[in-house]
Amino acid sequence: MSTAKGYAALAPKAPLQAFSFERREPNDDDVVIDIQFCGVCHSDIHQVRDEWFPGIYPQVPGHEIVGVVTKVGAKVSKFKEGDRVGVGCFVDSCRHCQRDVDAEQYLPGLTQTYNDRDADGQPTYGGYSDHIVVKEGYVLSVPDNLPLDGAAPLLCAGITLWSPLKHWNAGPGKKVAIIGLGGLGHMGVKLAHALGAEVTVLSQSMAKKDDALRLGADHYYPTNDPKTFEALAGSFDLIINTVSAPIDWNAYLGLVKVDGTMVLVGVPDNPVPVSAFALIAGRKSLAGSMIGSIKETQEMLDFCGEHNIVSDIEVIDIKDINAAYERVIKSDVRYRFVIDMATLKG
Ligand code: NAP
Ligand code: ZN
Repeated sequence: MSTAKGYAALAPKAPLQAFSFERREPNDDDVVIDIQFCGVCHSDIHQVRDEWFPGIYPQVPGHEIVGVVTKVGAKVSKFKEGDRVGVGCFVDSCRHCQRDVDAEQYLPGLTQTYNDRDADGQPTYGGYSDHIVVKEGYVLSVPDNLPLDGAAPLLCAGITLWSPLKHWNAGPGKKVAIIGLGGLGHMGVKLAHALGAEVTVLSQSMAKKDDALRLGADHYYPTNDPKTFEALAGSFDLIINTVSAPIDWNAYLGLVKVDGTMVLVGVPDNPVPVSAFALIAGRKSLAGSMIGSIKETQEMLDFCGEHNIVSDIEVIDIKDINAAYERVIKSDVRYRFVIDMATLKG
């Protein structure tokens, strides 16, 4: 066992505070990672505040983890000491069925990086901490040319947008809209643009227009103006909804082309009613997508390396994490907070 320093919510909705805990002794197939940066995902906030399902406490959030390998088990072949690596939203998956499916995230037996229990029944603790022990099969390589701080959000925000963009064939000739310009949304703009799609941002007001165009959007519309919904009716092959709160999906389905798809990646805590007419008039699909497989995540990281894509970040001291959460909730983050883990040692 090794003692880790981190930040945790000790109870549902409690503010995060300093917390020490034990990490397991590395097994033969484990990699020990000195965590340098960890992104702050809105899912961290949903979970420490118990908004989705009863959580496990104390809870150390964080699933946008990057750092450097400090030790590898005897059977590890992909990584060595000193390698720059990342860990995303899960650290283990089904060992009993469908091993050939390239979508571990949808199979039973998935173990989340935090707020979950491992195969031994022990709670998993995430990346708001100084080190982590992870099986090599769930560790990703971060391309050498990408700065580690900006690369951290690729491990969740990046892959969560990459997977549906690829699955629904975003590329040249396709019109893609991203609802919500936050952590996920801004990665969606960068990735869809790099894939060659025509990208529109749908944001609550005009406040983020200049940023959206700088990030790679071709068009920008405010959703607080009803004219947006008239002007863009039937426009998009693919809409990806990244909004963390309930919004009127029927109104946005009106912007989808015949045979087009709206994909939900944002996870509001309340259900949203959908009218049958919003789907049948246009043979439209309403779909969902959750993070991505390990293979897809490595493909996305390599693509980002080739295209020099990282997240736009604000690096913070871990002591400021509770204030950062409040700013995320107010949609006041440009565009992802990333915790500098060196500040844990201070
Ligand atoms: P975020 O940085 O807070 O971004 C969400 C954006 O949604 C905001 O920037 C804002 O964009 C918009 N928004 C927020 N409240 C709104 C409201 N009441 N009405 C309309 N728009 C609103 O959050 P994130 O980290 O990108 O995460 C977004 C959601 O995805 C969360 O629910 C998170 O849990 C979920 N998530 C899902 C997956 C998955 O695998 N499916 C993975 C990670 C995260 P504008 O200011 O531009 O309007
Ligand atoms: Zn996340």
